[in-house]
Amino acid sequence: MKLIPIPAFSDNYLWLLEHNEHTLVVDPGDARPVLEYLNHHHRSLDAILITHHHPDHIGGVAELKRRFDCPVYAPADDRIPIRDITATDGDQLSVLPDAPAFQVLHVPGHTLTHVAYVHDNRLFCGDTLFSIGCGRLFEGTPEQMWQSLQRLAALPDETRIYCAHEYTLSNLDFALAVLPEHPDLLAYKQKVQDRLQSGLPSLPSIMAIERRLNPFLNCHRQDIRQAAEKHCGMQLDSEVAVFACLRQWKDNF
Ligand code: ZN
Ligand code: FE
Repeated sequence: MKLIPIPAFSDNYLWLLEHNEHTLVVDPGDARPVLEYLNHHHRSLDAILITHHHPDHIGGVAELKRRFDCPVYAPADDRIPIRDITATDGDQLSVLPDAPAFQVLHVPGHTLTHVAYVHDNRLFCGDTLFSIGCGRLFEGTPEQMWQSLQRLAALPDETRIYCAHEYTLSNLDFALAVLPEHPDLLAYKQKVQDRLQSGLPSLPSIMAIERRLNPFLNCHRQDIRQAAEKHCGMQLDSEVAVFACLRQWKDNF
């Protein structure tokens, strides 16, 4: 099993998974770099998985489907024009032969129909969870996104997280505004900077790191709540209220 990040647009990763001679791609927003990779490695495509309807996640689906006629797995959503198999919360999808199933989690917040896929301790979470951050709330409420993130955070420590964007460094700058000079955040930032300077992605992240360092997963913690209360200038009585304040703070950061 091999995971390949295919960079696209300014900061997307289209994640390609190779298992024996089979290949799938998650959220191919652009067909061209995927086709280039497949041609170069003499592979064809066996499946496409979609997390949500935004163009940078589905833009290449029609072209790839035309070339390979492979099944497209996607949540039920009219804004996703091509779908062969509906991905519904709780499904265990057998996508590739002799490979573990892909478990579907409905994670509303960034969009209302957004899903994540869990496969063999790997999480493909689209724009829901980022390393040290989370997606913007385009459609859902803070309550929905908080619940979705809690669900993802309940996955095992060793889960590797394949986010759809390289946002880690800017997320770290925000986290360091919430918790200035936090030594673990500073250490992680150094590590991420080193990787990016070597031309490597900061991803995948690991759930143990996110649970410890991602402010959006730690709205129950007192240091995070106090920072949020100071920024928003009011008392925040629930984890959701802290989350909503953090998300708004980050939107304008
Ligand atoms: Zn999106
Ligand atoms: Fe996106």
